[in-house]
Amino acid sequence: MKAKKQKPDFLHLGEKLLNWYGTNSRDLPWRKTKDPYKIWICEILLQQTQVKQGLNHYLRFVERFPDVKSLAEAHEDEVLLYWKGLGYYSRALNLHKASKQIMQDFDGNFPDDYESILSLKGVGKYTAAAIASIAFDLKYPAVDGNFYRVLSRLFADNFDISNAKAFQYFSELALLMMPEHQFGDFNEAMMDLGSEICKPKNPICVACPLNEDCLAFQSGTVNEFPLKTKKTKVTYLELTYYFINFKDQFLIKRRGDDFIWKKLYEFSTSIPEDFEQYIRRSNSISHKLTHKNLNIIINDVQLPDLELLKKFASENDFEIINLEEAKQKSFPKPLQNYLENYSKKSSFQGELF
Ligand code: SF4
Repeated sequence: MKAKKQKPDFLHLGEKLLNWYGTNSRDLPWRKTKDPYKIWICEILLQQTQVKQGLNHYLRFVERFPDVKSLAEAHEDEVLLYWKGLGYYSRALNLHKASKQIMQDFDGNFPDDYESILSLKGVGKYTAAAIASIAFDLKYPAVDGNFYRVLSRLFADNFDISNAKAFQYFSELALLMMPEHQFGDFNEAMMDLGSEICKPKNPICVACPLNEDCLAFQSGTVNEFPLKTKKTKVTYLELTYYFINFKDQFLIKRRGDDFIWKKLYEFSTSIPEDFEQYIRRSNSISHKLTHKNLNIIINDVQLPDLELLKKFASENDFEIINLEEAKQKSFPKPLQNYLENYSKKSSFQGELF
């Protein structure tokens, strides 16, 4: 007689995970609070930023903007400044817009149900579930790439994670495992397990609390999961800038509200023909954004006198600033790096081509 395939004891696995989390959770400042505002800031901040890199930014951000009201009343430029160094500035712009939305639509009180949280600008299903479960103890699994990876390995499940229904599928699977208590802890435990133990490459299965039950580990097929058939399409983009300067003063302009790097400052993207003689060197910088590979060329245009710089600035709506003042402005990462290198000229990597 053929042996029946045993159904996993989902809840038992969920309890095991919670037990492990009880003694192995990472000691992070946002885990000591139930304040939905702070949990929201942290969830948005950690979306494209490593915990180690984001920690100080988080502390500085919530010190300056301790609640929804202070964030809503702040000037957009200041919010961007406190995001400086983290990249993906649209996250900061969305936080700012959503804080105004909370002031206007929810009388300044952070919404306490999943649908209302999801209605906030920049908040997707994952973030809404994380806030709802951690701050309000609501039963929503915060399914992200960690969940996909852990669950597909745990159950040797080859549901394609590039399938449009993957989120729904793994949410249902996670709900089966979620015990009827500590919903927020369950989500954080999955995040910790996925990022610290069940890592994309070289998972540390020997230290995993679920290794006895993990079908992929038990069958030696961990590397086959998760299954992803469609590769994300990456586009290539070339940008040219002109760093028009006289001594330590240079020109900047604010970007618009569309395409990449919304509302950040940048250098000029063109020059008149008679400025070409002042190009001293050109740098070529590679930079990766989600789904975009950029090649950025920055030309160093050293004008012979200040009057020329001022004339060009006023005729073309540029702001003139110096390197010190640049510290108070937010630039896209590659331009920020360029300025930092420029200010320590001795180690400047300028290359003529
Ligand atoms: S045993 Fe290994 S593959 Fe399975 S869940 Fe744990 S870390 Fe992931």
